[in-house]
Amino acid sequence: MQVRNPPDAPQPARCRATTTCPYCGVGCGVAVELEQDQDSVRIVSLSGDVAHPANHGRLCVKGSALAETLSADGRLTMPQVRDGAGVLREVSWETALDLIAARFADLSRTHGGESIAAYLSGQLLTEDYYVANKLFKGFIGTPHLDTNSRLCMASAVVAHKRAFGADAVPCSYEDLERAELVVLVGSNLAWNHPVLFQRLKQARIDNPLLRIVVIDPRVTDSCEIADLYLGLRPGSDARLFNGLLAYMADRGRLDRLYLKAHTQGFDAALKVARREDCSLGAIARDCDVDVERLETFYYWFATQLHVVTLFSQGVNQSTSGTDKGNAIINCHLAGGKLGLPGAGPFSITGQPNAMGGREVGGLANQLAAHMDYETPGARELVGEFWNAPNIPQGPGHKAVELFAAIERGEIQALWIMATNPAVSLPDSTRVRAALAACPLVIVSECMADSDTLAYADVVLPASSWSEKDGTVTNSERCISRQRGLLAPPGEARHDWWQLAEVGKRMGYQAAFGYSGPHAIFREHARLSGFRNVAPRHKAGSKPLAASSIRRLFNIAPLAELDREGYDALRPIQWPVRRGEKGELIGTLRLFEDATFNTPNGRARLVPVIPQLPHQALSDATPLRLNTGRIRDQWHTMTRTARSARLMNHRAEPFVELHPQDAAARGLQDGALAQLAGRDEQGSVRGDYRARVRISHGQRQGEVFIPMHWNDHFASHGRAGALLAGLVDPLSGQPESKHGAVDVMPLPCEWQATLLIAPGVWGGHEDLAGAMTELEGCYWARIPQATLVRCQLAGEGQPDWALWCERHLSVQAGLWAQDVAQGGISAAGFREGRLIWWLRVTAGAARSDRQPNIAWLGECFASDQLSALERRSLLAGRLSGQADVGTMVCACHQVGELTIRQAIQSGDRCVEALGARLACGTRCGSCLPELKRLVEEDRSDERTDSLEMA
Ligand code: SF4
Repeated sequence: MQVRNPPDAPQPARCRATTTCPYCGVGCGVAVELEQDQDSVRIVSLSGDVAHPANHGRLCVKGSALAETLSADGRLTMPQVRDGAGVLREVSWETALDLIAARFADLSRTHGGESIAAYLSGQLLTEDYYVANKLFKGFIGTPHLDTNSRLCMASAVVAHKRAFGADAVPCSYEDLERAELVVLVGSNLAWNHPVLFQRLKQARIDNPLLRIVVIDPRVTDSCEIADLYLGLRPGSDARLFNGLLAYMADRGRLDRLYLKAHTQGFDAALKVARREDCSLGAIARDCDVDVERLETFYYWFATQLHVVTLFSQGVNQSTSGTDKGNAIINCHLAGGKLGLPGAGPFSITGQPNAMGGREVGGLANQLAAHMDYETPGARELVGEFWNAPNIPQGPGHKAVELFAAIERGEIQALWIMATNPAVSLPDSTRVRAALAACPLVIVSECMADSDTLAYADVVLPASSWSEKDGTVTNSERCISRQRGLLAPPGEARHDWWQLAEVGKRMGYQAAFGYSGPHAIFREHARLSGFRNVAPRHKAGSKPLAASSIRRLFNIAPLAELDREGYDALRPIQWPVRRGEKGELIGTLRLFEDATFNTPNGRARLVPVIPQLPHQALSDATPLRLNTGRIRDQWHTMTRTARSARLMNHRAEPFVELHPQDAAARGLQDGALAQLAGRDEQGSVRGDYRARVRISHGQRQGEVFIPMHWNDHFASHGRAGALLAGLVDPLSGQPESKHGAVDVMPLPCEWQATLLIAPGVWGGHEDLAGAMTELEGCYWARIPQATLVRCQLAGEGQPDWALWCERHLSVQAGLWAQDVAQGGISAAGFREGRLIWWLRVTAGAARSDRQPNIAWLGECFASDQLSALERRSLLAGRLSGQADVGTMVCACHQVGELTIRQAIQSGDRCVEALGARLACGTRCGSCLPELKRLVEEDRSDERTDSLEMA
């Protein structure tokens, strides 16, 4: 790849640069070392940026594996347009952009700008988001621009606005380290924000007085550091925090002075909380938690000033997610636990730039720069700043509504950027139907294995991490540079450039003639300060000018950065101001002066009526479905699946069940299961097939599945297909944590492991096609460094010899069949090289004779196998080689069985395991799992080990 902007100097063979991780909302700084030869540049090493305030040099396993995901293979490199025969054909950028501009102009004339929509992503940089928002809302004149961040934190956004008058996260990561009590609600920090979890873990070591409470229906790896665990009934969070508000009032633990001077609405909020029985027994019953544990939590919260409540998707992804957020914030306001070091409600976002998107107005209900349509004068202010002719009158469709509007034919053109809604949205089968029916679907994407591309009429190849150049804002309001270090492959281009080119072709040259991301950022920063008057609520303060709109988000001093200053920008938290010597000063913590962004400067406590999930359980769907992330994958796997070691932690889609639920359905650990929901008419909704994991950490009556698998990696792995598109009426956020399903054994008569050399099959289509001949009912595809592993299952009695001959490019060179047991082991070679390897076992249970994939991977890489290796192939391992089991430590590739054996042989602590096996000694992401394995060895019941204080 060509270097675009050599970071430090043009000529040296090696140079260093810093950038930001593109995955979760922690927003870790990354230091890279680049090597440049005559005509190319590559990243040769990558580590945490010690100077970045988010991570101080740490990286989790996903961040550490970033360099493994950068290959040009599988990238989109040319624009494509679907022809009359329905085939995507490569075209020039001119052709693609002219077509989009002409179709948009035509639709605007014939159907109005509102017939055009955009669906964006928290993966975009702020500069991309800004140009998209300006083009669609300011010039095309449509409010229908929403983002996948709607699925992640929209409820927290509305809760912030209701309470503080602004979408403002009060805390910083540093507050986790300065707190005396940290409460994790609906957040598996250990897996979803691993570096923050490591910081919290270290804080607990540094401060023995720090207590940590985990509130989550599941016992997750975050419980590793919990002093107290509340395994509450799903959806009962608001009841729990309403009860806490009443408890504080009853025990004289309110901060009356703070409430009186700086808030409003307390009496109404308490009155509504008291509508239900607020005795500890009643709350414990409703939340299904132990009453002593409940009282301990309430006592700790009520008596401690320095409390941080960190909440995430477990709170937000609910039909009452906004209310849950406000129930939490109410308790902080009531106790004055806000605006202090180590205190405050802290919403942690899932995506790297969810907050940057909010800053520019990248949600359908927002206008721009923290102004909404409802804000008096906002339309005029933004219209004047942009010199924009077409500012919409009011809010547009939020994500789920947007696809419903497409289904109804109201939206005629949709531009999707950096997201995969065909997989990630709830009711994804319906979403796919809407996409198929939409007359014009444009997809800007960097990877070729996004399911949404199947619905694209125009495909635009986009730049990716390490190529994109701009800024992101993490969960603590910290703006960091994500730097363009490598040139995009082929004709791939930046998202902002694509948008600006369409804008110019529509006749708006002056508005979109940006010279680069620096120019966009300066404009964004200027808009943030445009007629933005700092809050003044003190007695005698002057009234605001009529045309001013007070916003907390203000980074106007950054508009003065020249190109060099922008390139060198160090992480800084908004709001940003200039100090006396002209230096840039960020803001560590908001509301330290207890002045809020409401008309009277007071924070609002919001009355909350607790509601249970809207997706109802029934006889046909008796199990509560929880969906979420796993440690080593990101979103729909289009990038993380490119790293072999990240694929091994959880190689297949899975469903976690309580032992009694599994037993009641005849499900064994490792067997295959099928999940289905029901729609309003009682018809089956979704078909999810996955490997069973029996877990004592799962509540009875509830199941958990991962959200990641797409059609390229599993035959039936789409979690979104099981979920109804029910949303929070205030935030529009889908209820992805509270589906309703049943689980049953997947009927199959055989299972198989097929390993195949890369390149023998083109991709998942070849596997899916070959499976139809096998009466296959399940497949999962797991790319590895030297092979592609496929787990298969099916019915009937296939003619395996014929199938291998037809589909595996070479005939079997080794073949062993156990006629009585119905088992087969076979391998195929070309010129002495191993090309495929197959093991078939009869029956539905997973074979306990698992092959050693790591050793087989070496065989695939070998030009010539030794006689011993060839003799051992059918056994799937060398004599004496042990099965390593499921991968736990991705960095050092140490499996669960290896770890269990080490524990049994005397390594009964994490440190001893690290010393012997090296597991857990690099990024630390697997430490909670290691600790769990150690604890499981001591006791089958993990929950018993969490002691009451
Ligand atoms: S915690 Fe991991 S995934 Fe998240 S930003 Fe940091 S390195 Fe990236």
